[in-house]
Amino acid sequence: MNAATIAALSNTGVAVEVVEETGSTNADLLARAANSTEPLTAPLLLVARNQTAGRGRAGRSWLSSGDASLTFSLAWRFDGGLASLAGLPLAVGVALAETLERLGVQVALKWPNDVLREGDKLAGILIETRAAPGGGTWAVIGIGLNLLMPDELEARIGRNAASLPWLARMDRDSLMAALLDGLAGCLHAFERGGFPLFVARWNLRHAWQGELVTILDGGAVLHEGVAAGVDDAGRLLLDTPAGRVAVLAGDVSLRMKGA
Ligand code: ATP
Repeated sequence: MNAATIAALSNTGVAVEVVEETGSTNADLLARAANSTEPLTAPLLLVARNQTAGRGRAGRSWLSSGDASLTFSLAWRFDGGLASLAGLPLAVGVALAETLERLGVQVALKWPNDVLREGDKLAGILIETRAAPGGGTWAVIGIGLNLLMPDELEARIGRNAASLPWLARMDRDSLMAALLDGLAGCLHAFERGGFPLFVARWNLRHAWQGELVTILDGGAVLHEGVAAGVDDAGRLLLDTPAGRVAVLAGDVSLRMKGA
C-alpha cells in the first residue's frame, strides 16, 4: 500500500502514512495525539501493512495477517469533550457499512461496535480518546477489516470470522481511499449533528433486532431481553419483563441468549 496513492485517490485531504509493521496503529496515534512537543494539528490516517498487537475492547486482541487484513487508525479532533462523542463507535459502524454497501457488500451491525457478515465478525472498531492539548478531544478510530480469512488466522482467533474475498481482489489503495472518504464524511456529519443523525441508519442494519439477547458484565448476566435497536445516545434498548431498559456500552458484552 502506498500513502501518496491513497491520499491522491481520497477526496478528503486527510494526511496519510503507511508503515510496514507496528504493534498497534491506535497506540501510535494516541501517543502522537498526546505529544506536547510535536502535537498533531490535523486529521491523520495511519495504515499498517502488518499489525502485530492489535487491540480490541477491554484488553481483548484484534488479530490480523498481512495481506489478508486491512488495519488502520484515523485520528480526528472534535471540538467538544468526551460527552459529545456518545454514539461515535456506532456512527463509525454505519460509515463502514455504508461504504461497503457502495462497494457491493451487504453487512449488519452488532451493538456496540462490530460489523458482521453472514453472522460472523468482519470488522472491529476501537475508539480511544485523548484530551487535545489545545482544547477539544482527539478520537483515534481504529479499524480492523478481514479481507481473507486464512485457516491459520481463524485458528488463532478461535471462532468463526467473516471475510470479503471479492473485495480482497480490489486494489488496496482504492479500497482504503473509499473507506477514508466514507469515514471522513460521517465524522463531519457527526460533528454537526451527533449520533441522532445515525440512529435510523444503524437500526436499519441491526443484526439482532427482535432477538432474545443477554448483556454480560464480567461473565455475569446484567440484563436479558428482546433487542429493540438503539436510542439517540447509542444505548441498546432491551425489552425485558420489567420494561424497557437502555444499556450503555461500557465494558459489557452482548450475546444471543443461549449462545
Ligand atoms: P465480543 O467479541 O465479546 O462481543 P467485542 O465485540 O467487544 O467483544 P472487540 O473488542 O470488538 O470485541 O474485538 C475483540 C474480539 O474479536 C476478540 O476477543 C476476538 O474474539 C475477536 N477477533 C479478534 N480478531 C478478529 C478478527 N480478525 N476477525 C474477527 N474476530 C476477531
